[in-house]
Amino acid sequence: MSLLEVKNLRIEYPSRYGVLAAVKDLSFSVEKGEIVGVVGESGAGKSTIGNAVIDLLSPPGRIARGDIYLNGELISGKSQNEMRAIRGSRIGFIFQDPMTSLNPLFTVERQLVETILANTDLTREAAFAKALSLMAAVGIPQPELRIKQYPHQFSGGMRQRVVIAIALSGDPELIIADEPTTALDVTVQRQIVELLAKLQQRQQMSVLFISHDLGLVGEIANQVVVMRHGQVREAGSASDIFTQPKDAYTRALLACRPKLDDRPRRLPVIDDIMQGRTASAEQ
Ligand code: ADP
Ligand code: MG
Repeated sequence: MSLLEVKNLRIEYPSRYGVLAAVKDLSFSVEKGEIVGVVGESGAGKSTIGNAVIDLLSPPGRIARGDIYLNGELISGKSQNEMRAIRGSRIGFIFQDPMTSLNPLFTVERQLVETILANTDLTREAAFAKALSLMAAVGIPQPELRIKQYPHQFSGGMRQRVVIAIALSGDPELIIADEPTTALDVTVQRQIVELLAKLQQRQQMSVLFISHDLGLVGEIANQVVVMRHGQVREAGSASDIFTQPKDAYTRALLACRPKLDDRPRRLPVIDDIMQGRTASAEQ
C-alpha cells in the first residue's frame, strides 16, 4: 500500500468564462520513505495537486473527479475538521514564501509551541522542549535565543527552517514542499534541500517535492513525475528520468536545465526545443 495515492484526479477552477481543468485524470503515488519530485513549468498544475492533497485548494478550485488516499484511507471528501487534524499531525507542508506560513506578529516560540500543543498531547513544558529540539534539528543556531524572536528577525533561509520545524511538529508521515526554495538565493536553496533530505532520512518520512526546477528535483528526489498542462507526461525513478527520458517534453526540460552556477535562468524555450529549434536554447 502506498503512503499517498492520487487516482484519476481532475481539478477544476470554474469562472464566468468557463471551467479551467488545471489537473486532468492525474494519477501517481508516493511510497513510504520516498522523495517524489513533481516537476513542470509554471501553470502545469503542480501547486493545485499539493493543495488538493491537504484540502487547501484556492477558491474556486474543486476536485471534480478522482480520489486521494493516505495510507489506504480515502481522504478526499473528508470534513474540514478531519482534514485539519490530518494536516496537523500526518501531513506537514512548506510553501514557497515562509511568510505565508508564519504570523509576523508572534514570536517563533508562540507559533511553534501552539502548533505542537494543537497536534500532540504534550504539556506546555514538554512542547517547549520539543520546540527547542526541532529548532536544533532544522539547523537554527542558538535555539534558546532565537525562539524568542519574531519572523522578521530571521533571514529568508532561517525563516524557511522555522517553517520546516513547524511542518515537522506533528511528526508527519508526509511533507509536501511546494517550491520551498524558490524565494531563496542559490547557496541557501542547496542548504534547505540538503536539510530536507537529511530530515527525510532521519525520520523516514515521505516528501512530495514540487518544483519547476528539474536540476533541484534531481538533487533530492528518488522518483520524478513530469507534468505539463495538468497531466503526467512521464513518471519514473529519478535515475531513469535523468539518464533515459522517454518523453519529448522531459528531454526538452533536461536540455534547458540550468546548471547550478548559472541559475536562475528562465526555461522559456521548451516549445522551441520540442520543435527542433534547439540552437537558440543552447546559448
Ligand atoms: P503550477 O504550480 O504548476 O505553476 P498551478 O497549480 O498554480 O500551477 O496552476 C495550474 C493552473 O490553474 C493555471 O492555469 C492557473 O492559472 C490555474 N489556477 C491556479 N489557481 C487558480 C485559482 N485560484 N483560480 C483560477 N485558476 C487558478
Ligand atoms: Mg506552483
